[in-house]
Amino acid sequence: MITKFFARAFTAAVDLFYPPQCLLCYKTLTGKEKHICDKCFDLLPLINGPHCPKCSRPIRTRNGENQLCGICRIQPNKDFKITVAAAEYQGLMKRLIHLYKYERQQFLSNLFARIIAEQAVKKKVADTFDLLVPIPLHWTRKRWRGFNQAREICRSISPLINVPVIPESAFRRVRKTTPQVQLNAASRTSNIRGAFDVRKTKYIKDKNIALVDDVYTTGATSGECSRMLLRSGAKSVSLLIIAR
Ligand SMILES: [Zn+2]
Ligand SMILES: [Zn+2]
Repeated sequence: MITKFFARAFTAAVDLFYPPQCLLCYKTLTGKEKHICDKCFDLLPLINGPHCPKCSRPIRTRNGENQLCGICRIQPNKDFKITVAAAEYQGLMKRLIHLYKYERQQFLSNLFARIIAEQAVKKKVADTFDLLVPIPLHWTRKRWRGFNQAREICRSISPLINVPVIPESAFRRVRKTTPQVQLNAASRTSNIRGAFDVRKTKYIKDKNIALVDDVYTTGATSGECSRMLLRSGAKSVSLLIIAR
């Protein structure tokens, strides 16, 4: 109780001398704003317009309604039931995700969780999930980064949509791989094969899983996770991401 009081007083004192700034434009934040200012938030490329209901790719349609994109019509992704993306991976969103992953702005997980959960609710799928599963990080990578960015987002999404997070020990990355960004699309699939292992199938069996990651690029990593989970008895796997 006393420590809490001092902690709060300390935070207030720090705020007085170093008022919190917007992470993107450095403007002093008002009391209601958190991490980024409202103006920067409005500039985030959130996917609010028409998009593909299966993969969330923004598309242009004549009537402004959602419809299957060309790719999903010809060659639908078999790894995921659907993909829910909150934003496009460009502009300020790209910068924000970079701050989160590489500049230790860990608390941004709350903002990302909020926009992902809002999108899942809007798409009427939030209540179809039984379990949140972050893409596992190899322990050496986690130690280097200090946290698993996908697990932090899961933790923040969980209370918003009332879905539990899988224990870390149940689904692991067992093999260290070359970071996917350093490879071309073709070698990404072979690089990641066999990198994950389901240690406790009881959590996964018959569950409708929402796999959580930060960004979607070629889908090689998330695809490998999905196949692993389906092979271990998952009923379905969907993908929740900040941006695509
Ligand atoms: Zn700003
Ligand atoms: Zn699509």
